[in-house]
Amino acid sequence: MTAARLSQLHMMTQLYEGKAKILYQTEAPDVLRTVFKDDATAFNAQKRGQIIGKGEVNCTVSAAIFRWLATRGIATHFLEQTAPTEMLVRAVKILPLEVVARNIAAGSLCKQTGLPLGQVLPEPLVEFYYKNDALGDPLLTRDRLLLLELATPEQLEQLRNLTLVINRHLREFFEQCEITLVDFKLEFGLDSDAQLLLADEISPDTCRLWDRAETDPQRRVLDKDRFRHDLGHVEAAYQQIRERVLAVAQSGDG
Ligand code: UDP
Repeated sequence: MTAARLSQLHMMTQLYEGKAKILYQTEAPDVLRTVFKDDATAFNAQKRGQIIGKGEVNCTVSAAIFRWLATRGIATHFLEQTAPTEMLVRAVKILPLEVVARNIAAGSLCKQTGLPLGQVLPEPLVEFYYKNDALGDPLLTRDRLLLLELATPEQLEQLRNLTLVINRHLREFFEQCEITLVDFKLEFGLDSDAQLLLADEISPDTCRLWDRAETDPQRRVLDKDRFRHDLGHVEAAYQQIRERVLAVAQSGDG
Protein backbone atom coordinates (compact mmCIF):
# COMPACT_ATOMS: atom_id res chain seq x y z
CA MET A 1 0.00 0.00 0.00
CA THR A 2 1.39 3.43 -0.95
CA ALA A 3 2.15 6.16 1.59
CA ALA A 4 -0.41 8.39 -0.15
CA ARG A 5 -3.13 5.78 0.29
CA LEU A 6 -2.19 5.17 3.93
CA SER A 7 -2.44 8.90 4.67
CA GLN A 8 -6.05 8.88 3.45
CA LEU A 9 -7.22 6.47 6.15
CA HIS A 10 -9.05 8.57 8.75
CA MET A 11 -11.91 6.38 9.99
CA MET A 12 -11.79 5.74 13.74
CA THR A 13 -14.27 2.92 14.45
CA GLN A 14 -13.11 1.18 17.59
CA LEU A 15 -12.71 -2.58 17.27
CA TYR A 16 -11.14 -3.47 20.58
CA GLU A 17 -9.62 -1.85 23.67
CA GLY A 18 -6.83 -3.74 25.38
CA LYS A 19 -4.80 -2.92 28.49
CA ALA A 20 -2.20 -0.82 26.66
CA LYS A 21 -3.64 -0.17 23.19
CA ILE A 22 -6.85 0.59 21.31
CA LEU A 23 -7.45 -0.92 17.88
CA TYR A 24 -9.48 0.91 15.24
CA GLN A 25 -10.82 -0.13 11.87
CA THR A 26 -9.88 1.98 8.83
CA GLU A 27 -11.43 2.43 5.39
CA ALA A 28 -9.04 -0.28 4.13
CA PRO A 29 -10.14 -3.76 5.28
CA ASP A 30 -6.54 -4.95 5.51
CA VAL A 31 -5.30 -2.01 7.61
CA LEU A 32 -5.91 -1.25 11.30
CA ARG A 33 -4.95 1.78 13.39
CA THR A 34 -3.35 1.13 16.80
CA VAL A 35 -3.34 3.84 19.47
CA PHE A 36 -0.90 3.31 22.35
CA LYS A 37 -2.09 4.35 25.84
CA ASP A 38 -0.28 5.53 28.97
CA ASP A 39 -2.27 2.98 31.03
CA ALA A 40 -0.12 0.34 32.68
CA THR A 41 -1.07 -2.98 34.25
CA ALA A 42 0.95 -5.74 35.88
CA PHE A 43 0.40 -9.09 37.55
CA ASN A 44 -2.54 -10.01 35.31
CA ALA A 45 -4.06 -6.51 35.78
CA GLN A 46 -4.11 -6.73 39.60
CA LYS A 47 -1.85 -3.67 39.64
CA ARG A 48 -2.98 -0.68 37.57
CA GLY A 49 -1.58 2.77 36.96
CA GLN A 50 -0.35 5.24 34.39
CA ILE A 51 3.11 5.90 33.04
CA ILE A 52 3.06 9.40 31.57
CA GLY A 53 4.45 9.41 28.03
CA LYS A 54 4.45 5.59 27.77
CA GLY A 55 2.08 5.53 24.79
CA GLU A 56 4.40 7.76 22.80
CA VAL A 57 7.53 5.86 23.85
CA ASN A 58 6.08 2.43 23.09
CA CYS A 59 4.66 3.50 19.74
CA THR A 60 7.88 5.22 18.64
CA VAL A 61 10.18 2.46 19.92
CA SER A 62 8.03 -0.29 18.37
CA ALA A 63 7.93 1.55 15.03
CA ALA A 64 11.73 1.99 15.01
CA ILE A 65 12.33 -1.66 15.90
CA PHE A 66 9.77 -3.02 13.41
CA ARG A 67 11.39 -0.89 10.68
CA TRP A 68 14.82 -2.11 11.66
CA LEU A 69 13.71 -5.77 11.76
CA ALA A 70 12.19 -5.34 8.29
CA THR A 71 15.65 -4.41 6.98
CA ARG A 72 16.81 -7.76 8.40
CA GLY A 73 14.11 -9.64 6.47
CA ILE A 74 11.61 -10.10 9.32
CA ALA A 75 7.98 -9.73 8.14
CA THR A 76 5.97 -7.60 10.57
CA HIS A 77 2.47 -6.10 10.68
CA PHE A 78 3.89 -2.54 10.86
CA LEU A 79 3.04 -0.13 8.04
CA GLU A 80 3.58 3.44 9.23
CA GLN A 81 3.67 5.63 12.36
CA THR A 82 1.01 8.30 11.77
CA ALA A 83 1.20 10.23 15.08
CA PRO A 84 3.29 10.09 18.28
CA THR A 85 0.95 7.44 19.76
CA GLU A 86 -0.52 5.96 16.56
CA MET A 87 0.54 3.47 13.93
CA LEU A 88 -1.10 1.76 10.99
CA VAL A 89 -0.65 -1.99 10.89
CA ARG A 90 -1.67 -4.82 8.61
CA ALA A 91 -4.80 -6.60 9.86
CA VAL A 92 -3.87 -10.06 11.15
CA LYS A 93 -5.54 -12.83 13.10
CA ILE A 94 -3.48 -12.90 16.29
CA LEU A 95 -2.44 -16.38 17.45
CA PRO A 96 -3.49 -16.77 21.12
CA LEU A 97 0.14 -17.29 22.15
CA GLU A 98 2.72 -15.19 23.95
CA VAL A 99 6.12 -16.31 22.73
CA VAL A 100 8.79 -15.43 25.29
CA ALA A 101 12.53 -15.54 24.57
CA ARG A 102 14.99 -15.34 27.45
CA ASN A 103 18.74 -14.73 27.49
CA ILE A 104 19.10 -14.10 31.22
CA ALA A 105 17.02 -15.48 34.09
CA ALA A 106 14.43 -13.02 35.47
CA GLY A 107 10.74 -12.74 36.36
CA SER A 108 8.62 -15.89 36.24
CA LEU A 109 11.59 -18.07 35.20
CA CYS A 110 13.29 -17.30 38.53
CA LYS A 111 10.03 -17.66 40.46
CA GLN A 112 9.16 -21.03 38.93
CA THR A 113 12.60 -22.67 38.69
CA GLY A 114 14.68 -21.09 41.47
CA LEU A 115 17.33 -19.90 38.99
CA PRO A 116 18.97 -16.77 40.43
CA LEU A 117 18.07 -13.39 38.92
CA GLY A 118 20.70 -12.40 36.38
CA GLN A 119 22.00 -15.89 35.60
CA VAL A 120 23.09 -15.95 31.96
CA LEU A 121 21.40 -18.88 30.19
CA PRO A 122 23.68 -21.25 28.26
CA GLU A 123 21.47 -20.71 25.22
CA PRO A 124 18.32 -18.67 24.58
CA LEU A 125 15.15 -20.22 25.95
CA VAL A 126 11.88 -19.99 23.98
CA GLU A 127 8.62 -20.51 25.86
CA PHE A 128 4.96 -20.43 24.85
CA TYR A 129 2.26 -19.01 27.10
CA TYR A 130 -1.49 -19.24 26.50
CA LYS A 131 -2.77 -15.70 25.80
CA ASN A 132 -5.85 -16.00 27.98
CA ASP A 133 -6.48 -13.42 30.73
CA ALA A 134 -9.17 -15.53 32.43
CA LEU A 135 -6.64 -18.35 32.91
CA GLY A 136 -3.78 -15.97 33.85
CA ASP A 137 -1.70 -16.62 30.68
CA PRO A 138 -0.36 -20.05 31.78
CA LEU A 139 2.91 -21.56 30.54
CA LEU A 140 2.15 -24.24 27.93
CA THR A 141 3.82 -27.51 27.20
CA ARG A 142 4.17 -28.46 23.52
CA ASP A 143 1.55 -31.18 23.97
CA ARG A 144 -0.95 -28.84 25.62
CA LEU A 145 -0.42 -26.27 22.88
CA LEU A 146 -1.13 -28.89 20.21
CA LEU A 147 -4.03 -30.36 22.23
CA LEU A 148 -5.69 -26.92 22.30
CA GLU A 149 -4.86 -26.47 18.60
CA LEU A 150 -3.31 -23.07 19.30
CA ALA A 151 -0.89 -23.68 16.40
CA THR A 152 0.02 -26.51 14.06
CA PRO A 153 3.29 -28.43 14.67
CA GLU A 154 4.73 -26.67 11.59
CA GLN A 155 3.71 -23.23 12.89
CA LEU A 156 5.18 -24.08 16.29
CA GLU A 157 8.54 -24.91 14.72
CA GLN A 158 8.36 -21.77 12.56
CA LEU A 159 7.52 -19.60 15.61
CA ARG A 160 10.40 -21.02 17.61
CA ASN A 161 12.94 -20.53 14.82
CA LEU A 162 11.66 -17.06 13.97
CA THR A 163 11.78 -16.02 17.63
CA LEU A 164 15.41 -17.17 17.90
CA VAL A 165 16.31 -15.17 14.79
CA ILE A 166 14.48 -12.09 16.11
CA ASN A 167 16.31 -12.53 19.43
CA ARG A 168 19.67 -12.44 17.64
CA HIS A 169 18.72 -9.26 15.77
CA LEU A 170 17.28 -7.55 18.86
CA ARG A 171 20.28 -8.42 21.00
CA GLU A 172 22.54 -6.88 18.38
CA PHE A 173 20.33 -3.77 18.19
CA PHE A 174 20.11 -3.25 21.96
CA GLU A 175 23.82 -3.88 22.38
CA GLN A 176 24.37 -0.78 20.24
CA CYS A 177 22.06 1.06 22.67
CA GLU A 178 24.35 -0.07 25.54
CA ILE A 179 21.46 -2.20 26.79
CA THR A 180 21.29 -5.91 27.67
CA LEU A 181 18.21 -7.66 26.31
CA VAL A 182 17.25 -9.94 29.21
CA ASP A 183 13.98 -11.33 27.85
CA PHE A 184 10.94 -10.30 25.80
CA LYS A 185 7.50 -11.36 24.65
CA LEU A 186 6.35 -11.55 21.04
CA GLU A 187 2.94 -12.02 19.46
CA PHE A 188 2.36 -13.24 15.93
CA GLY A 189 -0.58 -13.11 13.55
CA LEU A 190 -1.68 -14.56 10.24
CA ASP A 191 -2.58 -12.20 7.40
CA SER A 192 -5.25 -12.90 4.77
CA ASP A 193 -2.72 -15.05 2.84
CA ALA A 194 -2.00 -17.09 6.00
CA GLN A 195 1.48 -15.54 6.12
CA LEU A 196 2.96 -15.39 9.63
CA LEU A 197 3.75 -11.80 10.68
CA LEU A 198 5.35 -10.43 13.83
CA ALA A 199 2.64 -8.27 15.45
CA ASP A 200 1.75 -6.36 18.66
CA GLU A 201 4.63 -4.23 20.00
CA ILE A 202 8.28 -4.39 21.06
CA SER A 203 8.78 -1.89 23.85
CA PRO A 204 9.85 -1.44 27.49
CA ASP A 205 6.41 -2.92 28.35
CA THR A 206 7.27 -6.22 26.65
CA CYS A 207 11.06 -6.50 27.09
CA ARG A 208 13.37 -6.56 30.09
CA LEU A 209 16.14 -4.08 29.32
CA TRP A 210 19.16 -3.51 31.56
CA ASP A 211 21.54 -0.57 31.30
CA ARG A 212 24.95 -2.09 30.57
CA ALA A 213 26.71 0.76 32.40
CA GLU A 214 24.96 -0.07 35.70
CA THR A 215 25.61 -3.09 37.88
CA ASP A 216 23.19 -2.16 40.66
CA PRO A 217 20.25 -4.61 40.26
CA GLN A 218 17.65 -1.84 40.68
CA ARG A 219 19.35 1.08 38.96
CA ARG A 220 20.08 -0.94 35.80
CA VAL A 221 16.36 -1.64 35.14
CA LEU A 222 15.02 0.43 32.20
CA ASP A 223 11.68 -1.34 31.60
CA LYS A 224 8.26 -2.08 33.06
CA ASP A 225 9.81 -3.83 36.08
CA ARG A 226 10.28 -0.29 37.49
CA PHE A 227 6.48 -0.03 37.54
CA ARG A 228 5.85 -3.68 38.56
CA HIS A 229 8.13 -3.44 41.60
CA ASP A 230 7.72 0.27 42.48
CA LEU A 231 11.35 1.09 41.75
CA GLY A 232 10.59 4.78 40.98
CA HIS A 233 11.81 6.88 38.02
CA VAL A 234 9.52 4.88 35.70
CA GLU A 235 8.93 7.69 33.19
CA ALA A 236 12.64 8.54 33.08
CA ALA A 237 13.50 4.92 32.23
CA TYR A 238 10.99 4.87 29.35
CA GLN A 239 12.41 8.15 28.00
CA GLN A 240 15.96 6.72 28.25
CA ILE A 241 14.90 3.77 26.08
CA ARG A 242 13.22 6.08 23.55
CA GLU A 243 16.33 8.26 23.24
CA ARG A 244 18.78 5.37 22.92
CA VAL A 245 16.62 3.42 20.45
CA LEU A 246 16.07 6.47 18.25
CA ALA A 247 19.77 7.36 18.31
CA VAL A 248 20.74 3.89 17.06
CA ALA A 249 17.83 3.62 14.59
CA GLN A 250 18.60 7.06 13.15
CA SER A 251 22.31 6.36 12.88
CA GLY A 252 21.25 4.21 9.92
CA ASP A 253 23.56 1.34 10.70
CA GLY A 254 21.49 0.15 13.70
N1 UDP B 1 5.69 -10.16 29.17
C1 UDP B 1 4.78 -9.37 28.50
N2 UDP B 1 3.45 -9.58 28.70
C2 UDP B 1 2.97 -10.54 29.53
C3 UDP B 1 3.91 -11.34 30.22
C4 UDP B 1 5.26 -11.13 30.02
O1 UDP B 1 5.16 -8.51 27.71
O2 UDP B 1 1.74 -10.68 29.65
C5 UDP B 1 7.13 -9.96 28.96
C6 UDP B 1 7.81 -9.38 30.20
O3 UDP B 1 7.87 -7.98 30.12
C7 UDP B 1 9.19 -9.98 30.11
C8 UDP B 1 8.98 -11.33 29.42
O4 UDP B 1 7.73 -11.22 28.75
O5 UDP B 1 10.03 -9.19 29.28
C9 UDP B 1 8.96 -12.51 30.36
O6 UDP B 1 8.03 -12.27 31.39
P1 UDP B 1 7.86 -13.29 32.62
O7 UDP B 1 7.36 -14.61 32.11
O8 UDP B 1 9.11 -13.31 33.40
O9 UDP B 1 6.65 -12.72 33.43
P2 UDP B 1 6.53 -11.59 34.55
O10 UDP B 1 7.67 -11.72 35.47
O11 UDP B 1 6.51 -10.33 33.76
O12 UDP B 1 5.21 -11.91 35.16
